[in-house]
Amino acid sequence: MTTDVTTPGAAAAPVYPKLALIGLGLIASSIAWATQRGQVAGEIIGYDRDPGVRETARRIGLCHTVADTAAEAVADADLVIFCVPVGAMGAVAEEIGGALKPGATVSDVGSVKKSVIDAVGPHIPEGVHFVPAHPLAGTEHSGPEAGFAELFDNRWCLIVPSDGSDAEAITTLRRFWEGLGANVNEMDAEHHDLVLAVTSHTPHLIAYTMVGVADDLRRVTDSEVIKYSAAGFRDFTRIAASDPTMWRDVFLSNKEATLSILQRFTEELFRLQRAIRRDDGDLLFDYFTRTRAIRRGIIEAGQDTAAPDFGRGGPRQPKAPDA
Ligand code: NAP
Repeated sequence: MTTDVTTPGAAAAPVYPKLALIGLGLIASSIAWATQRGQVAGEIIGYDRDPGVRETARRIGLCHTVADTAAEAVADADLVIFCVPVGAMGAVAEEIGGALKPGATVSDVGSVKKSVIDAVGPHIPEGVHFVPAHPLAGTEHSGPEAGFAELFDNRWCLIVPSDGSDAEAITTLRRFWEGLGANVNEMDAEHHDLVLAVTSHTPHLIAYTMVGVADDLRRVTDSEVIKYSAAGFRDFTRIAASDPTMWRDVFLSNKEATLSILQRFTEELFRLQRAIRRDDGDLLFDYFTRTRAIRRGIIEAGQDTAAPDFGRGGPRQPKAPDA
């Protein structure tokens, strides 16, 4: 089915004539809207395994065409981006490997890179370029109606070349992400997975745990948790509302790095616990002064707002920590 697509914003020459998006959730829909805004691809074709999601995508005009099979979606595409949960990447690659056009580029947006490269790489045929990537932008919402064109503006997209990724294919993909509003850097897969374990994966696990603990506390009834939720706990609940499938896959796919950072976290927690028990105010003060400087650095780098209450009073909710 063909949908008429309006194209507000810049009229730069398309980087790719035909873009195929597989898995039409938050990230794919944001890519689609940002592609339309910047005219970064001539034509967008989408596919999702859920017929209801395909119907929604058609209704809201996300793509020019919503295909009924993954093979149909990628057949003539110059860039194919897998936007499915990390644990589904290998199966998608196996499903469409034989239908890819020679010279096409396959990429993904998975939050973990090494396991995706291992799962997808073997299914990419000779003559097709595989250039993995990860946009560091997201929210706690899912699905085709969650996306918006500004999601990647001034956020990082990390390109994580796999062994033998073609230099020209990397440069072209870089131009594509810049066209979506992102700043682009390259990183190797192992380092990516460690950095993200620190900045995103372990914080998510801690948020899930904190909300779980509050839920378990018999002394604090559910209504009190909700009624008196202070900023710290509210931020945890926002992060802990993130998609269960996506996050299950992230932890199972980035096991080593997450467990290693979690070990360090536990040791620090014991240190602070001891400081509280021993009335060591100096340690606590110095520790919190150091962490406050990190927050300032993030704001100065333009990666969050300094507005009181994280800008909650504004028209759009702040972006959640990225996956
Ligand atoms: P989402 O909103 O849940 O969308 C994923 C979509 O893919 C769902 O509609 C899902 O359908 C579909 N899908 C699953 N398996 C499929 C398959 N085999 N073939 C076709 N479609 C399939 O997820 P998202 O938040 O956009 O995340 C997508 C990817 O982006 C993940 O790899 C995630 O790690 C990465 N990422 C996410 C964020 C974030 O903050 N959300 C940020 C950066 C990167 P069902 O619902 O039927 O399973």
